[in-house]
Amino acid sequence: MLVQHLGNYEWENVLILPYKEEGTHFKSITRQILSTGLADIPCQLRYFEIAPEGYSTLERHRHAHLVIIFRGAGEALLGEKICQIREKDIVTIPAHTWHQFRATEGTPLGFLCLVNNDRDKSILPAENDLELLRRDPDIAAFIRS
Ligand code: MN
Repeated sequence: MLVQHLGNYEWENVLILPYKEEGTHFKSITRQILSTGLADIPCQLRYFEIAPEGYSTLERHRHAHLVIIFRGAGEALLGEKICQIREKDIVTIPAHTWHQFRATEGTPLGFLCLVNNDRDKSILPAENDLELLRRDPDIAAFIRS
């Protein structure tokens, strides 16, 4: 099956959805579900786009993410590191790892994200998690929650 790219990071018969149905721990993001997997590949392939200065939820969960940066550039908290990310970089996020993406370069940050169809819900940081994360000044300056 072919899902044609229509231009401007939109695909044939794919809806542009809000990032999350609920919650306030994010800003300026769209979500498109490009595939819900097939046969023995039970995964969802999503395309997220964060507007300039926007950011994703600071979260962790049991399920892993496989992310391919598709458009623009930005930064990500990956565990205990802040990483510069740009087009064609591959980001893997293991289970239970704190992560947050930001578009910081005056350009949108678009990325493909592969997840298992069967996955747990995201966990947001509690006050003591934030305290631990903020012990690193770089992380303290980076995170939004
Ligand atoms: Mn996540």
